[in-house]
Amino acid sequence: KRRKRLSLEEYKSGILSGDRVGLSRAITLVESTLDSDNELAAQLIDEIYEHTGNSFRVGITGVPGVGKSTFIESFGKHVIDSGKKLAVLTIDPSSQKTGGSILGDKTRMETLSRSSNAFIRPSPSGDALGGVAHKTRETMLLCEAAGYDFIIIETVGVGQSETAVKNMVDFFLLLMLAGAGDELQGIKKGIMEMADAIAINKADGENVEPAKKAKKEYQNALHLFPANENGWNPKVKTCSAIKDDGLSEILELLEQFHKEQNETGFFDENRKDQAIHWMHQTIHHFLKRNFYKSPEILEKLSKFEAEVRNGTKHSVQAARTLLNQYYN
Ligand code: GDP
Repeated sequence: KRRKRLSLEEYKSGILSGDRVGLSRAITLVESTLDSDNELAAQLIDEIYEHTGNSFRVGITGVPGVGKSTFIESFGKHVIDSGKKLAVLTIDPSSQKTGGSILGDKTRMETLSRSSNAFIRPSPSGDALGGVAHKTRETMLLCEAAGYDFIIIETVGVGQSETAVKNMVDFFLLLMLAGAGDELQGIKKGIMEMADAIAINKADGENVEPAKKAKKEYQNALHLFPANENGWNPKVKTCSAIKDDGLSEILELLEQFHKEQNETGFFDENRKDQAIHWMHQTIHHFLKRNFYKSPEILEKLSKFEAEVRNGTKHSVQAARTLLNQYYN
């Protein structure tokens, strides 16, 4: 598909004017895999950087079916009613493998998407997860510059993308279900450990009591993790996304976190740690990308793979030879 190329100034003013079309165009530029677009996108991020950072960034994760889109649809309304402009970005790792997406095949967040104070954007597909995470982070910056002051980054909680999201948000919310075992839910201990809060969703009808029981169990489980250095004790809540039950309490909890962390200075501290993390991530990403794009390497790669397979070279030997060639 062809798209009109705008100048840096046009992209910039499109974003800063708060116009959704302008924002969408800029995101498309950031998502592009063309080198020439990447260069312009990097300049654009530089240009708008001073207008970023003024949002509360929230990651939401949970396995498919836990109710993420229903939750965000209902919760997002509370966010907007509190006077915020909300951007929802989704990272869906499944879309990279299959080309189709778990998220994409349903009409998601229909009501929310009609609100003039909400902006919803799925992640690009077809790139490595590291690349998607970068693009999501840059998209988040664009949204902030466009005036969105509450950002939700949604991931399908299957393990790969959670760490990347944890490293770009201020608050990480894990959605769970009562009754299904942790293993069934594909939730690894490591993901629970990242959570600032766990919300047990679908606490309605016959599920109310099991949800309360699960809440106690998770509270106990969270006590076993080492304390956070920011002084925040992860909380467990129950909610019903479909009945809009317990969601305003969850928003209050997030606001309490925001306020407390600002007062203690840990909010900024965390942002600074993340900035350093992203510096290194960016270095890793580009080193790797350039290596695998280099013609000398591409030319030899399959030969080396064959040699490793048939045992004429061992893995480390092959890797070192290629690396030496790349750097010489
Ligand atoms: P996602 O895959 O995590 O985004 O989950 P969805 O939001 O698509 O929800 C999966 C299914 O669970 C849908 O059929 C929803 O209607 C249902 N669901 C979501 N939230 C609730 C809830 O709070 N209570 C009940 N009973 N069902 C819910």
